[in-house]
Amino acid sequence: MIIDGRAVAARIRAELFTRTALFFEKTGRKPAIAVVLIGSDPASEIYVRNKLKGCDETGIRSVDVRLPETVSAKEAASALRELASRDDIDGILLQLPIPARLDARLLLREIPAEKDVDGFSTQNLGALARGEEGFVACTPLGVMELLKRYNIPTRGKHAVVVGRSNIVGKPMSLLLLNADATVTVCHSRTADLKEECLRADILVTAVGKAGLITADMVKEGATVIDVGMNRGKDGKLCGDVDFENVQKKAAFITPVPGGVGPMTVAMLLSNVCTAAEKRLK
Ligand code: NDP
Repeated sequence: MIIDGRAVAARIRAELFTRTALFFEKTGRKPAIAVVLIGSDPASEIYVRNKLKGCDETGIRSVDVRLPETVSAKEAASALRELASRDDIDGILLQLPIPARLDARLLLREIPAEKDVDGFSTQNLGALARGEEGFVACTPLGVMELLKRYNIPTRGKHAVVVGRSNIVGKPMSLLLLNADATVTVCHSRTADLKEECLRADILVTAVGKAGLITADMVKEGATVIDVGMNRGKDGKLCGDVDFENVQKKAAFITPVPGGVGPMTVAMLLSNVCTAAEKRLK
């Protein structure tokens, strides 16, 4: 079965619309996010535009903050600090990547954990590692939501996550662990990727290499979640998985595009609502 991320994301957005309307009824204002973009990287411009559009469609107020490519670290930090102190802003997102001369780690520290709707802060990732409440990175959160909505059990299952980045692979493996899966995490130094993948009931790949996961690496009846986003030789968007051949073996599989991608923005919007609701309490 092909997992339809677009349909699930649309359902989540409809649910969010109800949540934001309720919030407005109670407070007389909309949940709000500030989206900070430094410079004018074309891919980042598109991501930001999608996020702002998503806000619009779900009753979330967005504040579009543009800082010039030449902004100093001090100025960028001070802009984030000002947003952090504002009572009318519930969530702050710093669009990555930022210009190489700036230190993303230092800037992310200016976003307080309760407004860190991207879940990238050390505090939130630490909370996830401890199995405590906090904001979780939107892409892995979106994967968990897909598993839940397709009734794919995780308890006692063997999950293999390929990729160990702080924004996808690591939080993904922690979420699966917290959901009682037995988790193996693979990366570029894994000795035998095929052998590890073949043991997966749930295989999540977040690498960024087209065609990395082939049918001979997938167990019959496995669930295959493809987070990868690549340009194929034909210039079309594709994931890490050889979709055509792997879909013949997998019980469930996400396509690219139309799988995990749409879930990322939906979960961001959901985190903004949660941030606003928590602050209200
Ligand atoms: P990173 O480049 O930060 O991480 C890639 C990971 O893949 C690293 O852990 C790396 O290992 C591992 N890796 C690289 N080569 C291999 C290999 N041959 N075998 C096994 N593991 C390997 O990427 P991100 O985590 O940021 O993103 C991963 C992919 O997901 C990208 O394609 C990105 O575009 C996509 N993405 C999609 C999103 C969506 O909304 N759908 C959102 C975010 C990302 P090592 O640590 O050893 O270097």
